[in-house]
Amino acid sequence: THFGFREVPETEKAGLVGQVFSNVAGKYDLMNDLMSLGIHRLWKRFTIDQTRARPGQHVLDVAGGTGDLGAALARRVGPQGRVVISDINPAMLEVGRNRLADKGIVGNVEFVEADAEHLPFADQEFDIVTLAFGIRNMTHPEQALREIQRVLKPGGRALILEFSHPTWPGLGPVYDAYSFHLLPHLGQLVAGDRESYQYLVESIRRWADQETLKQMMERAGFELVEYFNLSGGIVALHKGIKL
Ligand code: SAM
Repeated sequence: THFGFREVPETEKAGLVGQVFSNVAGKYDLMNDLMSLGIHRLWKRFTIDQTRARPGQHVLDVAGGTGDLGAALARRVGPQGRVVISDINPAMLEVGRNRLADKGIVGNVEFVEADAEHLPFADQEFDIVTLAFGIRNMTHPEQALREIQRVLKPGGRALILEFSHPTWPGLGPVYDAYSFHLLPHLGQLVAGDRESYQYLVESIRRWADQETLKQMMERAGFELVEYFNLSGGIVALHKGIKL
């Protein structure tokens, strides 16, 4: 089933997270641009550069949602390569599939409905695995990291892009004001959904800092783990190698 969805049973779909992304799927891309003032595009571009993806390679984008990374990766691996965009939420995948088709990105991309904690792929199937803004919402993030490690080939690299903890002095209060006051309003105004964005802000606060995620990756079996703070640590890109 190279270009289609692979269905999973209803029981495997996550509750709250699933509901949040079903509510926002149609407005998701617009909200990303608004909330980050477009800067998420730069974070994603940096991530794509760090994949070092080459023509012919096989790449998995876990929690790939509406396909931002997937689209860029598909261009890099070219017609001989393969990009699998997996996500637990069929509404997000549907938006992604339509977006990529609109851009003419077809043939080397595949959409798979799957829980990151139980990836339906063979051991050592991929050269590169990416995961952007998905891990903090997972029930067992360490299990997802172990799965990513498992499906990577030896020498393969994992790139985890996620919100993190601001490191620039003085940034903290500004960032708090923005995320606790302005952001839920934006969610209400644009998506008519204050709760979902409130939940996202809280999940960002609860999530691991840079060093903690690095240790989680090491425990999952990654080597040479390092991270890059982006926008003063609001976001961090973690990179790990499977040796
Ligand atoms: N990676 C995309 C991006 O950067 O624009 C989408 C990020 S979006 C904030 C988070 C995505 O993670 C959603 O599409 C959601 O459905 C997905 N997700 C959450 N929990 C998941 C899980 N356990 N397995 C797979 N996907 C999951």
